[in-house]
Amino acid sequence: MWLRAAALLLLLAFAQLVLCAEDYYKLLGISKDATEKQIKSAYKQLSKKYHPDKNPGDPTAQDKFVAVSEAYEALSDPELRRVYDQYGHEGVKQQKQGGGFQQHDPFDLFSRFFGGGGHFGHQQRRGQNIEIKLGISLRDFYNGKTVEFQWDKQQICEECDGTGSEDGRVDTCDVCRGHGVVIQKQMLAPGMYQQVQMQCHACGGRGKTIPHKCPVCGGNRVVRKPTTVSVTVERGAPNGARVVYENEADASPDYTAGDLIVTLTQKEPDLEQDNPDRVDGVFFRRRGDDLFWTEVLSVREAWMGDWTRNLTHLDGHVVRLGRKRGEVVQPGHTETVKGEGMPKWHENGDSVYHTTEFGDLYVTYTVVLPDQMESGMEKDFWATFEKWRKKKGVDLHADSGRPDKPVVAEDHAHEEL
Ligand SMILES: [Zn+2]
Ligand SMILES: [Zn+2]
Repeated sequence: MWLRAAALLLLLAFAQLVLCAEDYYKLLGISKDATEKQIKSAYKQLSKKYHPDKNPGDPTAQDKFVAVSEAYEALSDPELRRVYDQYGHEGVKQQKQGGGFQQHDPFDLFSRFFGGGGHFGHQQRRGQNIEIKLGISLRDFYNGKTVEFQWDKQQICEECDGTGSEDGRVDTCDVCRGHGVVIQKQMLAPGMYQQVQMQCHACGGRGKTIPHKCPVCGGNRVVRKPTTVSVTVERGAPNGARVVYENEADASPDYTAGDLIVTLTQKEPDLEQDNPDRVDGVFFRRRGDDLFWTEVLSVREAWMGDWTRNLTHLDGHVVRLGRKRGEVVQPGHTETVKGEGMPKWHENGDSVYHTTEFGDLYVTYTVVLPDQMESGMEKDFWATFEKWRKKKGVDLHADSGRPDKPVVAEDHAHEEL
């Protein structure tokens, strides 16, 4: 009887424990079949978000930070993940107690990704920011797109967890006794010495030596590896927009990683790649939210009217230009087509609270004159012009009031003689 009661109590306690711990997958916001890469990226995002340094005085954030690190540790290890999928939290707990698994400090885990002892703090050394310029076509600025690029990022060596040692052994340097510096005496004059502090040659100033270097990083504790970054170009993002990835620059055990800053720069369109639909839009010129275009008209069109043009915009929709018969377009005239410019970018992204507004499209007309005509046509035009010139002709030269002869030259001409 007593035993049964105890067992029930134990069972209740166990049930409560299971209820308290949140599902690891749910916690990281990933699905059960998430890849290793997805698990890693979810951890990186959430651990940064809930880091206690970023949420001072918020105990829930701290709990989340610990929970996220626990979830990552279980799911990133294939064996533990299998156990978790089958037996849940309790299984993982038993596995850890039974079989030589090290419980990591959540800050240690954090520093494995971002370096610098796991804390953001200002007193901490911080790595340099890295700026990358990314060429984006006008089409992608207009329609929005997610693009990926690769760069060689310095990462903390996973083989040795950033110790640089194959077997985990790191000794204090014999030469400097761990200080990283040595005092050298320099003789200034006979009997006169100066003491100079120098960086220790034996350990390079680190105060530690590694007897068996890690074969992957060669004792450097870091390795450079191609890293893929995915950038979302929002519709209408300005040319030169900066996307900041906090603490995603080069990582090192010695400092907190700086930021990776990606600048979106408009590039010349690659006509093969960026214009599969052969739209006119790739040749639009952009200034802020407005677009500019030059359209060519023949003499007949400019003068007599009765013409249309279908401009294909950057997303393939058609902008129709045209004039009725009798509507003249002067060369160099600029027409404003309202709402056919770039989408206006909002700081808060696309939202149900606003509809996308657009800038304007400015179309400037140039007129080309034919330099060759069939002789019959030339005669017809000539005759027509002659007829109307005699009847109602305007003499632009006479009307301008300009003198027929040069005015100034005479006095000077005498002087020269
Ligand atoms: Zn040393
Ligand atoms: Zn290594």
